[in-house]
Amino acid sequence: MSLRKLPRVVKKFLSARLLGPCDMLFAFTLVSFLPNLKVLSVRCTSLSKPALVIFLEELKKLKVLNISHCIITENPPPAPMNILTKLDESILEKTSRLDKFLTCMSDSCIMCLGTLNDEGLMWWYKYEEDIWKVDEVRSLAI
Ligand SMILES: [Zn+2]
Repeated sequence: MSLRKLPRVVKKFLSARLLGPCDMLFAFTLVSFLPNLKVLSVRCTSLSKPALVIFLEELKKLKVLNISHCIITENPPPAPMNILTKLDESILEKTSRLDKFLTCMSDSCIMCLGTLNDEGLMWWYKYEEDIWKVDEVRSLAI
């Protein structure tokens, strides 16, 4: 059965879209409350690498992960912010089991730069709604 055909209330528990910075505490909370999550979208925010690893290792049923326009940091705060410019092998290996993995880490992308300028705090909220829907995972763009 495709995700789109599920009743809305069920879908709510299968998909989640994060709006703020994603730290490890949040990652742990999310995986413990929504262990069966299939679609996760953490766009335009700051995401620490350990938090990303938690998602990839703990969400066993995860099929779609969208981390477009995120600032990926090497260490969780309060460690000095070391922004990754590309994902390393250990992460890529973990994402290989996903059906779909969306990422965008570009210094020429207006959405990435926006995330950086606003330090991952919902900068897109200020823009037209449609902008952030453009490359949103299809099941979330409702
Ligand atoms: Zn981008």
